[in-house]
Amino acid sequence: MSTMTVTAFETPHILTRTTEHTEIPLSSPDLTAEDRERVLDILSGRTLSLGPMLPAFEEALAEAAGTRFAVAVNSGTSALHLCVKAAGLGEGDEVITTPFSFVASANCMVYERAVPRFVDIDIDTYNIDPALIPSAINSKTKALLPVHVFGRPCDMTAIGKIATQYGFPVIEDSCEAIGATFEGKKIGSFGHSGAFAFYPNKQITTGEGGAIVTNDERTARLSRSWRNQGRGEGSAWLQHERLGYNYRLSDINCGLGLGQLGRLQEIGQMRAQAAETYSQMLAEVPEVITPSLHPHNAEISWFVYVVRLQPEFTREDRDQILATLRARGIGCNNYFAPLHLQDFYREMYGFQRGDFPVTEHVADRTIALPFFNRLTISQIETVTDALRHAVGAIRRGSVNGAALPV
Ligand SMILES: *Cc1c(COP(=O)(O)O)cnc(C)c1O
Repeated sequence: MSTMTVTAFETPHILTRTTEHTEIPLSSPDLTAEDRERVLDILSGRTLSLGPMLPAFEEALAEAAGTRFAVAVNSGTSALHLCVKAAGLGEGDEVITTPFSFVASANCMVYERAVPRFVDIDIDTYNIDPALIPSAINSKTKALLPVHVFGRPCDMTAIGKIATQYGFPVIEDSCEAIGATFEGKKIGSFGHSGAFAFYPNKQITTGEGGAIVTNDERTARLSRSWRNQGRGEGSAWLQHERLGYNYRLSDINCGLGLGQLGRLQEIGQMRAQAAETYSQMLAEVPEVITPSLHPHNAEISWFVYVVRLQPEFTREDRDQILATLRARGIGCNNYFAPLHLQDFYREMYGFQRGDFPVTEHVADRTIALPFFNRLTISQIETVTDALRHAVGAIRRGSVNGAALPV
């Protein structure tokens, strides 16, 4: 791999060679001097919350999402919760969603006593399989909550068709997909509402934070009230129109987000290039299935770079590979553990292994590799070399006696 050069890339300055690095983290936020300066400016002022940064950040977010409104909140989970409330979902309502996700995308309905109705995923995209949705629909079904997993857009044409046919609102969990597009339209702008998240491992960060994006004025207005203790617009500080929450995002966070958002396109390019480099280098590791880079009808916003081991490998093999990589200072993880197999979901709904076979097959074999804006070519080399050796060691130990393609 040391023969790899940067000449094949359009913007070689993004990926530079470095020699240091003993540890390579799974993710790493990318803050500029400008980001830090803006935050320091806010700290020097007197308005740390509900100040001018909030509407400025929201305006930029709505623009980035291609929606009329954006409402910033203190996490992606809070954003999803308010989307669920705004869609009027409650006790016993079933919401069709994916079991291959971060736990918040299902928890957000449980908060309102609605019920996640899981539908298995497509093995190539890891997103909910629209072909399986109709058979999950019954008289209690009230909404669809697709998740754009790892920043890869769901098939919003197929999902939109079902939603229109049955009159279901769509809530897009876009927490991993800011900047992605499907057939030229921005992810987050398809549904009744969409949620973004800005935890430090996401494409852009506010430290902690999230946002609801929507074209629906009522959803925006209610979300603004709910996040601020149920206060109405312009109502007195101790006047509460409805039961609300404290889901506010401080001006410190919003200021950071504003700077980060301004770099969204550049960040997207850096991450796409890192993904491309990984896939090129991993082309020589046949035990590993790499994510497809260029879906014909969508543009990915790369959240994480996740590979999958060939079917011959077991979950134990995968866990051993994770341990080997970690021992070599390489951050990695098993994105995702199936939601239906989390203790809480098993106990509450009686799910068991075997319920969603594609999700389980994928979840048992995935490895998220180090992935962040400033990942260097030599770091990618280090990771791919380590991965090659780790899978090779398992293979020599014979994987269930099965031969793997060379
Ligand atoms: C990150 C994420 C969220 C929200 O996370 P927060 O930590 O609450 O900001 C929700 N859904 C998915 C799929 C995510 O990846």
